[in-house]
Amino acid sequence: MKGICILGSTGSIGVNTLDVLGRHPDRYRVVALTANNNVDLLFEQCQAHRPAYAVLLDGKKSAEFRERLKKAGLATRVLCGVEALEEVASLPEVDSVMAAIVGGAGLLPTLAAAKAGKTVLLANKEALVMSGALFMGEVAKSGAELLPIDSEHNAIFQCMPANYHAGRHAPEVRRILLTASGGPFLNKELHELHDVTPDEACAHPNWVMGRKISVDSATMMNKGLEVIEACLLFNLPPEQLHVVVHPQSVIHSMVDYVDGTVLAQMGNPDMRIPIAHALAWPDRFESGAEPLDLFAVGQLNFQTPDFQRFPNLRLAFEAVRAGGIMPTVLNAANEVAVASFLGGRIRFTSIPAIIEHCMESTAQRSADSIHCVLEADREARALAEGHIAQRHSH
Ligand code: NAD
Ligand code: MG
Repeated sequence: MKGICILGSTGSIGVNTLDVLGRHPDRYRVVALTANNNVDLLFEQCQAHRPAYAVLLDGKKSAEFRERLKKAGLATRVLCGVEALEEVASLPEVDSVMAAIVGGAGLLPTLAAAKAGKTVLLANKEALVMSGALFMGEVAKSGAELLPIDSEHNAIFQCMPANYHAGRHAPEVRRILLTASGGPFLNKELHELHDVTPDEACAHPNWVMGRKISVDSATMMNKGLEVIEACLLFNLPPEQLHVVVHPQSVIHSMVDYVDGTVLAQMGNPDMRIPIAHALAWPDRFESGAEPLDLFAVGQLNFQTPDFQRFPNLRLAFEAVRAGGIMPTVLNAANEVAVASFLGGRIRFTSIPAIIEHCMESTAQRSADSIHCVLEADREARALAEGHIAQRHSH
């Protein structure tokens, strides 16, 4: 019986994780759940899973939540604030931490889990992109196990040599073929992108996800962040990473070996599959996903990515080649730009322009301490906000 902490339990990944855990009460005990705003869902989750701890960020909300749990006769302790996220991610009774907070807000608690030597189930790609080599260094130092939840990286992990551990270089791998659906705007007329709405951008053809990652999928920044994530997790230079547009999202990525063998992992687009893989690893257990029906799928198509239509993909490759703080800057500027787009302040097509501006206006330097990373993140966010206020808001 293992103890698990779910950072971001009320999000799309968090809910899918609890769904899988609910099928295996003999394997995991839920020790801690955390949320930002959705207190009603957190309450339901506490009733169903009886965690020892629940964390909210806001002081007033957590005081009210404490009362509500007490009235319902639940013994869950309610903690509050960012430090509490780090605390529950490092508890001795926690073996595994599902890192499913969205964006840079997840960095410190995810890093705390890595430093504490936990099994880190990593969905929060922004945390890894921001802190790069620093994060991987902490994983190596503490002996933490890092298991990817992002469907592509989980697929690659499954196709890697036997006994592979994240961060190890595998010289028998020639290339990684990172598949991408292309998102909702793969075939839209270019001039129409100017006027797309947040709801249109969030209407992903194959996956139901949180709004931030849905916009990232529409701009293909999601794939850009995943390129950086893959370089770090699999210890490969960007030249060995190839993005393959595959609109059906049935192959979740592939590993191309030096002997010409290409291994692919396939399945329905259901995040419970990679989540169950990582929770059961190195065994397997049921996820609740439907079996793949290849006759219903009919065909699998592949095309090259269009760097003109998706400038964010080019910017991400530039950031990973530049190294240093550039991935941190790319991520921070993107988070600000996406939030502004979702808030109706800027156009969809302004997103890459804002990111490129921030990258061009930032002097390169190394990202070898958490202090440097957080400072670069703060600076890039301020730069992006300023640029939006001046040039892009309507
Ligand atoms: P979501 O928006 O549905 O959920 C985000 C969770 O984080 C919520 O529980 C929310 O309460 C919490 N949160 C938000 N802001 C916070 C803050 N400032 N401090 C603390 N907690 C905060 O997002 P999601 O789609 O579940 O994605 C979560 C992460 O997983 C992202 O990094 C995303 O890129 C990654 N991911 C998601 C999917 C997917 O299918 N949804 C697939 C691959 C990777
Ligand atoms: Mg993915």
